[in-house]
Amino acid sequence: MFTTFGFTFLFFLVLNFFIKFWLDCRQIRSVRSHRDCVPHAFVSKISLFSHQKAADYTITSIRFTQKERFASLIFLMISTFGGLINWLSQTCENLVGPGIVSQLLIVVSFSVVNTLCFLPFSWYSQFSIEERFGFNTQTKSRFFKDLGLNIILSAIIGLPFLTLLFYLWEVVGPSWWIWAWLFYVIFNLALLWIYPTFIAPIFNKFTPLPEGELKKRVDSLLDRIGFENNGLFVMDASKRSAKGNAYMTGFGRNKRIVFFDTLLSKLEPAEVEAVLAHELGHYKLKHIQKNMLVSFTVSFVFFALLAYLAQCAWFYEGLGISYQPENFQASALLLFFFVLPVFLFPLTPLTNKLSRKHEFEADHFAVCNSDGDSLISALVKLFNDNASTLTPDSIYSLFYSSHPDASTRIEAIRRNETRNTHVSK
Ligand SMILES: [Zn+2]
Repeated sequence: MFTTFGFTFLFFLVLNFFIKFWLDCRQIRSVRSHRDCVPHAFVSKISLFSHQKAADYTITSIRFTQKERFASLIFLMISTFGGLINWLSQTCENLVGPGIVSQLLIVVSFSVVNTLCFLPFSWYSQFSIEERFGFNTQTKSRFFKDLGLNIILSAIIGLPFLTLLFYLWEVVGPSWWIWAWLFYVIFNLALLWIYPTFIAPIFNKFTPLPEGELKKRVDSLLDRIGFENNGLFVMDASKRSAKGNAYMTGFGRNKRIVFFDTLLSKLEPAEVEAVLAHELGHYKLKHIQKNMLVSFTVSFVFFALLAYLAQCAWFYEGLGISYQPENFQASALLLFFFVLPVFLFPLTPLTNKLSRKHEFEADHFAVCNSDGDSLISALVKLFNDNASTLTPDSIYSLFYSSHPDASTRIEAIRRNETRNTHVSK
């Protein structure tokens, strides 16, 4: 029944599943064995109660992810070998006949099934886990309102792009994917441009950062660094979660700096300044641009790969899908998004290694342009309030962590600080 490709796919699928399970076990063991003792470096800053809460939250989250992952595996099997994609393709084609409309209908109906299947998981995560640990501030009606808004937005943004993609695929010939990629890049840049002004305000309220000590500090930091922007804003993140953060969106002159209200309520002005200096570091050191370049290059390869695989009968047959030379685009697209993560998973540590390197560099930038001690105290507060574990397993972090763990990060900031004082002397 299984072809060579089918076997290879299943082999990687099972391998990934066991690697993930093994990593989870390591992480749980590490967190649990340190549960009753706050690490030495944090004794004066983090209480045993908070430390234990972080441990319990980490373990609960991992157990939940395991269940969700298992459900995804079942869903993938049902979609491919179980015949769901086949059935949807057939039904849509019978309904409207072959062509772009039927391709669109297949993708849309599949997305609806997918969203409905995983909705209970988002619900449970928000109203059971996040609630239990005191992070949830979202009401049930807002949950559905957000869901509705997300669906409408995906339709407004996604449908025109998909239509264009299927049109190029059908009309342009073998080089369709180069054009599709070009439009993908333009689409993404346009989205990035309109996101801060048009999309983000649909979900949250943004008010200008009020005058006061913090505003003064931030303005002087922006002057020092020379950072062009289109305003400083406070976002009402507290209506969904108690977790604090700050970010920057947009590009060119259309950049906005956004502070979560939850961050401002927890940190002192000097600490907020240090966190912002870190974020500005990502811009000034061109991390954002580098990441964009990587992502566009990678997507170029993916489009080429999709164009190649879409015309190979073995690609479909290996995954239990019947190949129809007249009407294959939607199935090819869906299968591609299933298959890709399975073969890419072993590369996760590489991308995270790059991300951790950028985090160290942005911390270094913050120490040079702001204050290292304030950055450390801000990080400790954020680790504490967001219940992030201080005692992760080293291999788990190597694999999954986009940020260095607390102790390593704080040590590096201290080293940078002493180096700076030596230089200034
Ligand atoms: Zn960062």
